[in-house]
Amino acid sequence: MALSQSRYPLERYRDRLERTHQRCGACGAKDRDGSWTAETSGRRVRYRFVCPSCEAVDTRELFIS
Ligand SMILES: [Zn+2]
Repeated sequence: MALSQSRYPLERYRDRLERTHQRCGACGAKDRDGSWTAETSGRRVRYRFVCPSCEAVDTRELFIS
């Protein structure tokens, strides 16, 4: 797997998530202290965010073409 090529869009997408995901959807807490983690399986990337206040889990999926 060509990591040097695939990492860039993945990190860009995570940056965008961190900019646009301002609040927890469950408790409304600002999520500045949290961070998204990414796990890949094949072409699918799943980003996962755990709210530091209420531990609600938010996920986004990205498919790499
Ligand atoms: Zn929360």
